[in-house]
Amino acid sequence: MSLKGKTAVVTGSNSGIGLGVARELAKAGADIVLNSFTDRPEDHDLAASMAAEFGVTVRYIQADMSKGEDCRALIEKAGVCDILVNNAGIQYVSPIDEFPVEKWDAIIAINMNSAFHTTAAALPMMRQAGWGRVVNIASAHGLTASPFKSAYVAAKHGVVGMTKVIALETAQEDITCNAICPGYVLTPLVEQQIPATAKEYNLTEEEAVAQVILSRQPSKQFATTEQIGGTAVFLCSDAAAQITGTTISVDGGWTAL
Ligand code: NAD
Repeated sequence: MSLKGKTAVVTGSNSGIGLGVARELAKAGADIVLNSFTDRPEDHDLAASMAAEFGVTVRYIQADMSKGEDCRALIEKAGVCDILVNNAGIQYVSPIDEFPVEKWDAIIAINMNSAFHTTAAALPMMRQAGWGRVVNIASAHGLTASPFKSAYVAAKHGVVGMTKVIALETAQEDITCNAICPGYVLTPLVEQQIPATAKEYNLTEEEAVAQVILSRQPSKQFATTEQIGGTAVFLCSDAAAQITGTTISVDGGWTAL
């Protein structure tokens, strides 16, 4: 599978799943736009080292996915966007009656609204190119729920719904839109949930991983960023040209339960 000549914009890609997806797309030959809200020398160094490793063009563009105008500016600055991976996301764990309003607003903005803004900006570019792929990194929490994650579950269900609408609006063009629904992947986002989960359930951190986090994942293994990236590459392949408006779970059997 070669994605040579295609440009992929991956939101929230200086860490975790976004970085894993960007690396697999680069390995498949795509030029990459990395993004996060920071603008540190190490962000630009990451782009330079990926470019050298994979022999593709890699740019780093700072944009805050909690702000609609930044989301749209990211796509405009990229200039071309054949593959859009909406990945940026944050988490916060709290009972709903104690859920801080600013955390709710931030999760809805970054995890859901950003995909609306980036897709709205990218679709005209995809239409002009006559080809496009939108890959939304949703979650098992886009299909099912857990206590204490009201904003996250609401945002991810919203992304799955938006995925279907984008697919219908582009169905007669060579553009697809799908959502990947990972189960637990050991990234900084999950690592920071371990103490909060331990506190909510009154467990040690080791018990929280075994009894709460991986209890939902029948394989009892974390999925890897490479596996999520490989799934994204598949969704960009010709074999997936008729796959649109759906979800692919990479969750060790979680949603089969
Ligand atoms: P992570 O914390 O490692 O990465 C999140 C990325 O988003 C980082 O690059 C961060 O800089 C970026 N980001 C955060 N706020 C941003 C903002 N305002 N603007 C721009 N970028 C911002 O987390 P991750 O686990 O890699 O999560 C990536 C995506 O995968 C999220 O949407 C998350 O909901 C989803 N997901 C993760 C898991 C998991 O188990 N890790 C499971 C299912 C879904």
